[in-house]
Amino acid sequence: MRILLWFRNDLRLHDHEPLHRTLEQKAEVIPVYCFDPRQFGQTRFGFPKTGTYRAQFLLESVADLRASLRDKGADLVVRHGKPEEEVAAIAKALQVDAVYWHEEITSEELAVDAALEQQLAQLKISYEIYWGTTLYHPDDLPFDVSQLPKVFTSFRKKVEKSSSVYPAFPSPNQLPPLPKVDLGELPSLDDLGLEPKVPDPRGVLSFNGGETEALQRLQHYFWDVDKLRVYKQNRNGMLGANYSSKFSPWLALGCISPRKIYEEVGAYEQQRVKNDSTYWLVFELLWRDFFRFICAKHGDTVFYPSGLRGLKVAWKEDWQRFELWTRGETGYPLVDANMRELAATGFMSNRGRQNVASFLTKNLGIDWRMGAEWFESLLIDYDVCSNWGNWNYTAGVGNDARGFRYFNIPKQSKDYDPDGDYVKHWLPELQKLPRRKIHSPWKLDKEEQKRCNVTLGVDYPNPVVDLQKSVQTNEAIYNAAVQIR
Ligand SMILES: Cc1cc2nc3c(=O)[nH]c(=O)nc-3n(C[C@H](O)[C@H](O)[C@H](O)COP(=O)(O)OP(=O)(O)OC[C@H]3O[C@@H](n4cnc5c(N)ncnc54)[C@H](O)[C@@H]3O)c2cc1C
Repeated sequence: MRILLWFRNDLRLHDHEPLHRTLEQKAEVIPVYCFDPRQFGQTRFGFPKTGTYRAQFLLESVADLRASLRDKGADLVVRHGKPEEEVAAIAKALQVDAVYWHEEITSEELAVDAALEQQLAQLKISYEIYWGTTLYHPDDLPFDVSQLPKVFTSFRKKVEKSSSVYPAFPSPNQLPPLPKVDLGELPSLDDLGLEPKVPDPRGVLSFNGGETEALQRLQHYFWDVDKLRVYKQNRNGMLGANYSSKFSPWLALGCISPRKIYEEVGAYEQQRVKNDSTYWLVFELLWRDFFRFICAKHGDTVFYPSGLRGLKVAWKEDWQRFELWTRGETGYPLVDANMRELAATGFMSNRGRQNVASFLTKNLGIDWRMGAEWFESLLIDYDVCSNWGNWNYTAGVGNDARGFRYFNIPKQSKDYDPDGDYVKHWLPELQKLPRRKIHSPWKLDKEEQKRCNVTLGVDYPNPVVDLQKSVQTNEAIYNAAVQIR
């Protein structure tokens, strides 16, 4: 028996059910990865769909998968083309008995699945699709996904009460060699139409893709620097490698599975400490599950401007202000520092993401999908469900029943960056500002500007909008949409 394993966002050997099931049947395995050119095209608003940093991370992850497979006696067949054509062609040429892969649930991926299923049906090759992205398996949820609770807390409580996390599947020790096949070369960034960029050394971490690096990060964060015990207190930070786990890029490409992390939390609780921080990391993984199940339940509405709630807010497509936001030139230091970090590294903290998303939608009133696509283009941890789900939520068109909520940017900045260290890290022009003005540079008078070596409107912009007035305007627009609903 010969089975083709099509790898997608599951670039690992541990906790890989399709691989496990293949080996259980003592079948020959043909692992395949396909770089889909559609993923390297443009988004609706014209941004590169996969930007350089994420593409680089992906290339490293695929290279690592190939190295691990070789290490076990197998290899990875690499192709650059549409998976429905490439996978089917290999399946046909090697006369495989079946094709196995992991399930995805959003429209672009489902369209590829449907096309591949059709090709395989014509070739009379069977296929099996497995679920492998979440901590909780949908079969073990206490409700059908179609009955998923609207609100996270209710989802979490029900799951915590009635469900259990399945054990992770083990990594294989040995794999059978591949039959004679053209293995194919990994593309370069240039082949993918992207220009190499050196990530900024000011970034929180030099993220390298792959299962090997993911497992090393887990070891480092939990055991070597022992940060899991203080995760809950630190997780709202913005500066440095260890304020949060930084697992997200590896989770997004499946270089590590959430069940693997969960089991390691269990081991840590046994050997070191069990406290609210160890609980909280699992709690955050539940948010990730929640957004995936939300997308499974609601389908394409998560991508509509009116979002999951169907709220027809009159969003603006103001490119001038949008570009100030993307370049980090809004005149609000917390927003600008975060947006410059994103552009320079492909990463941003959760606190930062919430603030910049709030600013774009609640202060600038700009179509939240432009922000979501900008994130899609740049984030190395881009995950379709986490990204679009969180944007729905922050734009007020998601399942958040609390209506128009916004972040008071200068207050957030004071609370989470009291000395302005983070802001100064990314905005060197504000280096000399005193603590009491760093979160509101527009309050500097002429004399102070001279002393701080900054001229507002020249070295650093004046605020693009008035904070309170812009909130009032956009709240009225939002409430008008709620009224007509
Ligand atoms: C507007 C917006 C867009 C986002 N886009 C993405 C995205 O494309 N990909 C992505 O992985 N996360 C996204 N997030 C969620 C969150 O910001 C990141 O998961 C987190 O910052 C990653 O850092 P970490 O791994 O150190 O997180 P930690 O704090 O260490 O959390 C551990 C893990 O829990 C999960 N998690 C934590 N918070 C969330 C959350 N709010 N939603 C879903 N999962 C969560 C992640 O998998 C994360 O790796 C977004 C949040 C916002 C507000």
